[in-house]
Amino acid sequence: MESTNPAESRGLSLPSRILIGLVTGAILGLALNVWVPEGPGQDRVIWWADNVAKPAGDIFLRMLFMVVVPLVFSSLVLGVAGLGSMNNLGRLGGRTLMWFVGTTAFAATIGLTLVNVMAPGEGLSAEVREQVMTQFAGDAQTRLDQAAAGTGFSIHTFVNIIPRNIFASASNERETLGVIFFALIVGIAITRIPSDRDRVFLDLLETIYEICAKILGFAMWLAPVGVFGLVFAVTAKLGIDVMRSLGAYVVTAVSGLLFYQFVVLPAFAYFLIGITPKKLFTGVRALMITAFSTSSSNATLPTTMKTAIENFDVPKPIAGFVMPLGATMNMNGTALFEGVTVLFLAQVAGVELSLGSQVIVIMMAVLTAIGSAGVPGGSLPLLTIVLSQVGVPPEMIALVIGTDRIVDMTRTMPNVTSDLLCSAWVAKHERRHATG
Ligand code: ASP
Repeated sequence: MESTNPAESRGLSLPSRILIGLVTGAILGLALNVWVPEGPGQDRVIWWADNVAKPAGDIFLRMLFMVVVPLVFSSLVLGVAGLGSMNNLGRLGGRTLMWFVGTTAFAATIGLTLVNVMAPGEGLSAEVREQVMTQFAGDAQTRLDQAAAGTGFSIHTFVNIIPRNIFASASNERETLGVIFFALIVGIAITRIPSDRDRVFLDLLETIYEICAKILGFAMWLAPVGVFGLVFAVTAKLGIDVMRSLGAYVVTAVSGLLFYQFVVLPAFAYFLIGITPKKLFTGVRALMITAFSTSSSNATLPTTMKTAIENFDVPKPIAGFVMPLGATMNMNGTALFEGVTVLFLAQVAGVELSLGSQVIVIMMAVLTAIGSAGVPGGSLPLLTIVLSQVGVPPEMIALVIGTDRIVDMTRTMPNVTSDLLCSAWVAKHERRHATG
């Protein structure tokens, strides 16, 4: 995926231009939000956010989403077929899952610990609580309905991963797990048929993969303007009042996520993989900005794959195998956020969570982070399930919905950075296995 962008040859790299889009979008949006008085002035700002900035951002987002299904399918089939045997697949799959579950549980534990220490729920007045909950009751109901449509957690949750109709799964962005399952099975089946017959199909998939990579290149040309639009639309319309009343919660969640992104993950990278913080952050700059502005692991998937292969020397079959799984199943930031939010809402509701209940929260956070869709707000429906499991009224999610976008942007960064590190970790062990 080489850059064909003329601006780059003029010296300003793509990540730098995207960063400029991010910072100017945030500053301009916030400034107009804070300084333009309510009334016609503020209405005009909202008009610009809805009719100019948001559409520009959505065009960028859709260009990314557009390639997710063909990219997940082609890269996973090629990845599995490229591994050659069930033995290799088992070893790689085992390691990948070990990373997913281990880091996600660790992240959820950090979230819970933080809330226990900072107790952001205790200072919230009943009056603010009622006011915010009434304001977001409608949104909360939508999430509860989505959770109910998923029929909660049971054996069917696992059965439903196997798609009845692959085209139905492919056309629903909350059912990427179905596409993943299908691709894994196709990849395994390919290793079982004579190799002269699978070549044509694998060549075709290689071409599809290359085409997706090219489309990503086109999308990234739009990234500086797209990112500006997305961030401006969020900050210009940010409910500053809601932010202020829930300040302690937002600060706890965001600082926990930033701590995870800038301290915990670099420590994993250094001690488990041998990647220095400098190499890590130079390599993941574009990745972090894309995740932050899109709030979506799926939309960031093409960038995560490109980053792993080009900046961290992860072999293509390993990146092709780990990344699509990671985008849907590995969500460290989401688990941390769930830990923080469940305990915060329990504190506000006056529900005492025993140590045993907190361990249940960690386990549920891991499971629901695996089941959450890698789209903006993808974890909110499942969060309501965790709340009801531990006796916190699920409607209370209304309290945090108004501030969720900013927390979502922050949690998507560790979600994708952990996917990248997982692939580098698996690659390191595969090299060791090959030489040893
Ligand atoms: N937006 C997150 C992601 O795509 C999912 C979530 O936590 O809502 O990774």
